[in-house]
Amino acid sequence: QAKDSGRGVARYFSSELQSEQEDRVRLENDLRQAVAAKQFHLVFQPLVSAKTQKLVGFEALIRWNHPQRGFVPPNVFIPVAEETGLMVAIGEWVIDEACRAVATWPDPITLALNISPKQIVLPSLPNVVSEALSRWKVPGNRIELEVTEGIFLGDNGPTLDVMKRLRALGVGIALDDFGTGYSSIGYLNKAIFHKLKIDGSFVREAGSRPENVAIIKSIVQLAKSFRMSVTAEGVETAEDFERMRELGCDTIQGYLFGKPLSYERANQMVVGLGAKRLAG
Ligand code: C2E
Ligand code: MG
Ligand code: MG
Ligand code: MG
Repeated sequence: QAKDSGRGVARYFSSELQSEQEDRVRLENDLRQAVAAKQFHLVFQPLVSAKTQKLVGFEALIRWNHPQRGFVPPNVFIPVAEETGLMVAIGEWVIDEACRAVATWPDPITLALNISPKQIVLPSLPNVVSEALSRWKVPGNRIELEVTEGIFLGDNGPTLDVMKRLRALGVGIALDDFGTGYSSIGYLNKAIFHKLKIDGSFVREAGSRPENVAIIKSIVQLAKSFRMSVTAEGVETAEDFERMRELGCDTIQGYLFGKPLSYERANQMVVGLGAKRLAG
């Protein structure tokens, strides 16, 4: 009797585990088909100059609309894509699509795109980027790649080499979500990064937490001493903007100046500057 109920409990747990695993396999299969089925698109969030409040560029952010699932947020599917090896193909699609978009915009407008730790370690990445740049006739300095501190958790030998080859294409490399990672800041002196992006969590709470202001001040100082520019992310209010401008941030990104926009809406923002329309 006791043996039977014991088995029942084991069965209960294992069937729950099994269905979790099945969900995961289904998500993985859906993800595997998503590139070919054209279920991804990019949205574009404006970046403005802190000095002039004028548009200087956008960050491209991926969106997945699955016919049955609907909208699946990147924070949900990107970790799955990374664990299953699908991130490389998805990431290549992002690089190509980003170059296709920025090619239609006038020269000072830049486009930032996010690069997964799984991509930055690939020795083929500089070739993938350089091929996309030439396919769409975009100079390297029109795009910048955003990576997070997570890339330094493993062995950074190959990563540094890949990053140097990317910089040689004229491509900028920004350190995203700066301050939220766990790695040492020793790698900053390797002259690889052209920009630090201060994570929105510091920015949004700076009004109520003086220690956040101290952190932001020291990030700005650090950036300046290495000749990097600084972007404040997550700027939602006029007060956030004024504070980040006074603290010395160069560019500002956040809902105050615009949520991520469709290509058409982003294009409307730049069209006054003489942008062409996206072909194809
Ligand atoms: P991230 O690169 O740090 O992007 C900024 C995130 O903050 C975006 O979320 C953006 O919509 C959101 N955000 C921007 N301004 C504000 C604001 O004022 N307030 C608030 N509350 N949020 C704001 P999203 O699009 O959901 O992307 C989440 C993360 O997913 C990104 O963080 C990035 O790490 C990753 N991701 C997105 N697209 C890609 C991609 O194409 N490739 C890779 N590898 N990762 C991506
Ligand atoms: Mg980013
Ligand atoms: Mg960020
Ligand atoms: Mg982030």
